[in-house]
Amino acid sequence: MKDGGLIEKRDRMAWLKGGTVQCNHPPAKPAGRVWRLVLLGAPGVGKGTQADLLSARLGACHLSTGDVFRAAKSLCSGEVSPAMQNALAYMRRGDLVPDAIVLAMIAERARCLHCGGGFLLDGFPRTVAQAEELKNMLGQGKVPLTAVLNYDLPTDQIVARLSGRRTCPKCKAVFHVDTRPPRVKGTCDHCGEELYQREDDRPESIRVRMAAYEKSTRPLIDFYQKRGVLVTVPAEGSPEEIYQRTRLALSA
Ligand code: AMP
Repeated sequence: MKDGGLIEKRDRMAWLKGGTVQCNHPPAKPAGRVWRLVLLGAPGVGKGTQADLLSARLGACHLSTGDVFRAAKSLCSGEVSPAMQNALAYMRRGDLVPDAIVLAMIAERARCLHCGGGFLLDGFPRTVAQAEELKNMLGQGKVPLTAVLNYDLPTDQIVARLSGRRTCPKCKAVFHVDTRPPRVKGTCDHCGEELYQREDDRPESIRVRMAAYEKSTRPLIDFYQKRGVLVTVPAEGSPEEIYQRTRLALSA
């Protein structure tokens, strides 16, 4: 079970582990439309929650680069490559991981971008160089993006969301101390694990992450607007309200 009681049907093994690892439950090629979406927006705007909702209802797989780094973090140090250990040091500070490391990690997972079930990219691309490389990987437009969803929220609301966020280390469910508290303080509703605050959700990291967003990621709004695929969605309100707005914006 995950976030809001959704059943997570897909394991995303090929994405989380990379290389030749296969998914146990790969998404079937849908009879209708194949969705290839990029979710853009500042950290804490709710991209991950929206990706989960969209994935459960549109069928495409939720591909989060942050989840790949967090999965590597939970391995023993001996199992983590030096490049990945380097990436994790950037992540801990709230800094962006350098493009070369991110792009090498994506290249190992390129087949997820060509999956018949489509994809929901969350947290990638985050720089113009990454966006250019994504275009190359998708064959310069041969595999077109359906849309780039730009979730928009004022900065003070973003900081409040991030600093109150608490995560379950086991099932990854996400709570908020004020707006989405667990039934028992500090404990996951779904699996009873003790909730924790992500290292990069601490105030000093939040400041670094917001600065990195402004400098490196915000220019992607213009990048995708010029290419005619940008769809801006106001990210105020409950996850369900934002989700309904997203479906409307996509005419889905
Ligand atoms: P997220 O869960 O998407 O907020 O990602 C958590 C952290 O992982 C970020 O603060 C970065 O340190 C790192 N990260 C994830 N995706 C990228 C990316 N595409 N480029 C650079 N750093 C990334």
